[in-house]
Amino acid sequence: MSSRGVVWLGSPSFPDAARVALKDDQLRANLKRATGTIRDKRLTVAAELDDWEELRTAAEAIKNRTARHLDHYLVQLEESVTAAGGTVHWASDAAEANRIVTELVQATGEREVVKVKSMATQEIGLNEALAEAGITAYETDLAELIVQLGDDRPSHILVPAIHKNRTEIRDLFRAEMGHWGQPAPEDLTDEPRELAEAARRHLRQKFLTAKVAVSGANFACADTGTVLVVESEGNGRMCLTLPETLITVMGIEKVLPTWSDLEVFLQLLPRSSTGERMNPYTSTWSGTTEGDGPSEFHLVLLDNGRTDTLADPVGRQTLGCIRCSACLNVCPVFERTGGHAYGSVYPGPIGAVLTPQLVGVEQAASLPFASTLCGACYDACPVKINIPEVLAHLRAKVVEAKDGHTVEGLAMKAAGKVLDSPRLLGAAQKAAALGGRALARNGKIGRLPGPLHGWTDTRDTPAPPAESFRTWWRKNRESE
Ligand code: SF4
Repeated sequence: MSSRGVVWLGSPSFPDAARVALKDDQLRANLKRATGTIRDKRLTVAAELDDWEELRTAAEAIKNRTARHLDHYLVQLEESVTAAGGTVHWASDAAEANRIVTELVQATGEREVVKVKSMATQEIGLNEALAEAGITAYETDLAELIVQLGDDRPSHILVPAIHKNRTEIRDLFRAEMGHWGQPAPEDLTDEPRELAEAARRHLRQKFLTAKVAVSGANFACADTGTVLVVESEGNGRMCLTLPETLITVMGIEKVLPTWSDLEVFLQLLPRSSTGERMNPYTSTWSGTTEGDGPSEFHLVLLDNGRTDTLADPVGRQTLGCIRCSACLNVCPVFERTGGHAYGSVYPGPIGAVLTPQLVGVEQAASLPFASTLCGACYDACPVKINIPEVLAHLRAKVVEAKDGHTVEGLAMKAAGKVLDSPRLLGAAQKAAALGGRALARNGKIGRLPGPLHGWTDTRDTPAPPAESFRTWWRKNRESE
């Protein structure tokens, strides 16, 4: 992890990782099946709403307004949570957030915590930080459990174990569950019902003994101090209600001005994420209530690069993301490479724009190029984030950061000079026609030498014609 978390240091750049992933037939088959299924379901349920486009526009407007007045809404949220009996902590980066959570757990005297799926805690590497302090974190979301048992990394925002099929999961449960608690039955099959039952029994033991839980948050309402988590299994609700202490780590961009704003997002989120009309479990809580749920509630508000992102007029729209993963499921690049190739907690199109902004473009310079710019992500996004626009913006930043000292940069500078001068352009066209025809076979240029092979490796380049259009025009039409 980098100092801000988010990216897995030592990961290869996207093109290198993608090249390896593309050779994994099993991975591609798993991804094609899973993303295709969710994609079709999303289209069906979105089409049921006559005002789908109006909802998207409303969500975009709410998120833009929140970003414009983020300082105001965060202070209001702190006041509301405090008034309701909770405690708010501010963390400027991953290290500070990890220190705050670790100290809060240590103060309880506990050595174990249960967790409900949270991207923010993955972003900051919380499990690793807790482990260093001798505290074990147990993931309770089924897919996160699979990732944890496999000592693996999540590869999808919503379905972190999307790269595994059910036979691989059965083998993992049989081999690893016993090391973390209740083992899987020896005769466990790969039937989904049996796998879910094995996970249920394994996790039930954790829920009944845990005194501390750590969660993320989908939204928090500034006016009421209400925090909200949506999930599909009910494991999250166990985490949120059974332990005595609940610690929620939330990115500062998740705040919404009012409780009534949820009306928009709770229609868009389930339809865009799992293709459901509503989430099976929607848990909300406001501070603490005696005799009902945790008696202690801490909300850690995480910056970790978000205010830097907010300062960029083009890039700030990325903060509107509600982590639905619709952009991943429609992305032709993600479907072929899977999430690990992005080398980040945030994969797919949203990862390609969010990660470089959170950690700095120099730390993730290949990610803005991990796209065909086809625009399917923009069409699918329920908050209307113009991902292609941000990708192009970040590509320019990557090039600027290299100060033009790349082969491409130098080639573009040279091309600029040639295109600026009719005399140089004519000479270059003549040279290209001669050189191109010498290299061509059957009208096509094969592999170009040196760094130029990056262009010809994946493209057919036609041989240049014997004469340019300008030469032809001069010969045939200029006298007319
Ligand atoms: S960018 Fe849009 S489509 Fe992608 S995860 Fe975020 S909200 Fe969903």
